[in-house]
Amino acid sequence: MKYISTRGGVEPRSFSQVVMEGLAPGGGLFMPETIPAFSESDLERMKGMSYPELAFTIIKPFVDDIPEDDLEDLINKTYTEKAFGTSEITPLVDLGNKYPALLDLFEGPTEAFKDIALQFLGNLFEYILSNDYGYTHLNILGATSGDTGSAAIYGTRGKESIRIFIMKPRNTSIYQAGQMDTVLDENVFNMTMDGNFDTCQKIMKAVSSDEEFKSKYNLGAINSTNWARVMAQIVYYFAGSLRYQNNKRYDVGHKLVIAVPSGNYGDILAGDFAKQMGAPIDTLILATNENKVLADYFNRGIYKPWKKEQLIHTTSPSMEITLASNFERKVFWTTGCDGDRTKELMQMLDTKGYFSVQDFTEDERNYFVRDKIIAGTATVKNVSDVIQRIYQDTGVIIDPHTATGYHVAMMKEAHDCICLATASPVKFEEALSEIPGVKDKLPLQKRPEYQNMESKPKRVYELPEDVDAVRDFIVEHALMLHK
Ligand SMILES: *Cc1c(COP(=O)(O)O)cnc(C)c1O
Repeated sequence: MKYISTRGGVEPRSFSQVVMEGLAPGGGLFMPETIPAFSESDLERMKGMSYPELAFTIIKPFVDDIPEDDLEDLINKTYTEKAFGTSEITPLVDLGNKYPALLDLFEGPTEAFKDIALQFLGNLFEYILSNDYGYTHLNILGATSGDTGSAAIYGTRGKESIRIFIMKPRNTSIYQAGQMDTVLDENVFNMTMDGNFDTCQKIMKAVSSDEEFKSKYNLGAINSTNWARVMAQIVYYFAGSLRYQNNKRYDVGHKLVIAVPSGNYGDILAGDFAKQMGAPIDTLILATNENKVLADYFNRGIYKPWKKEQLIHTTSPSMEITLASNFERKVFWTTGCDGDRTKELMQMLDTKGYFSVQDFTEDERNYFVRDKIIAGTATVKNVSDVIQRIYQDTGVIIDPHTATGYHVAMMKEAHDCICLATASPVKFEEALSEIPGVKDKLPLQKRPEYQNMESKPKRVYELPEDVDAVRDFIVEHALMLHK
């Protein structure tokens, strides 16, 4: 399998190159040249597999330059009961006939679904750096509003040839900041700054877009534009849907609906891949919070990223996104995988601020209609109502991100539906503290490593919200093997 850029014009890359490069030169995103497919008899076999066996089966065709045995070892080392607390890795929880089933994706070390990809990516980085791929070390610079930073830190802590620098705004929740700042490994550098998540992201882009600096320091990225993250997420769409079929004694041809709380369009893109690869999925439901740029695209046919000032604060901060960085991969499919045309559409965002179905060719319009993603929005009120209702009826407390998926799936009256549970409610207790019934259950039980974080030793650097200051900090602390 080779990888090409959504904007074309780039020599095809191998898997390891795509993992290390992150973004394609010229601003495109890497995509596999073809999409592997599984037949119904394959699915029949896959039903009996453990999570790591399934992951190996699904990931193998995407990887062209890691020996199969090594890849299998990497996967077995990542998806363990020790790291995820359960050998199922992503357990499916039945909430009775009134509610969609819940696919619990938050059993990893930092209690959000991002662990599933970032635990694997950390191990991949380590493998590539310690073998003959031409890379010896890596400095990672990332920005986070909460979940990505901790998941990336837990995926790379203690790895010798990697240093990781994570910027977060001062208003990150105490719990999420604690998950990062209490990691004392020498290769981890936590930075806190004034401003908001967008400020951090802007600084990250400014530092990373300096090509000379980037190559001198071997600067890598862990955001969801990295292909390996999307790839690793495809697995749980298969795992969840096959398990649902088993529980209901459906045959493999019986298709399901999957609802996905969405922000950067990474997770649901993995679902789209899974569907095209033959997973028993009929419909994907995209759920947003009030920052509904993506829902507007699928409902009204206009993709118009918001200005940063338009951002609305909600109880689901990891989905407060005004521009979805993975959406370009969907645009690429819409154009029939035409790099020049994708570039043209993406450039309309710079020139006129949006593109719409009106701008589409007939084929593109057909794709838009045929490949329908059902989309909807949940307000803060909808979210707290659905959390309360599900708690009262089932005793299960879901987090506000997961609740957006539940709200939209229930509004659309989806049958045979699975909702992805993207984070544990323990991460978002502030939002739960207002909800009747639920608030009496607080504080929720914390894992031992996350208890009393206030009084634990921390290592965190205060930095001004300034590109040069961050660059100087990296120069001072980066790993450099060849001066
Ligand atoms: C990151 C995140 C999301 C959004 O996922 P995307 O891949 O950006 O669409 C949803 N819920 C939680 C808890 C997250 O951390």
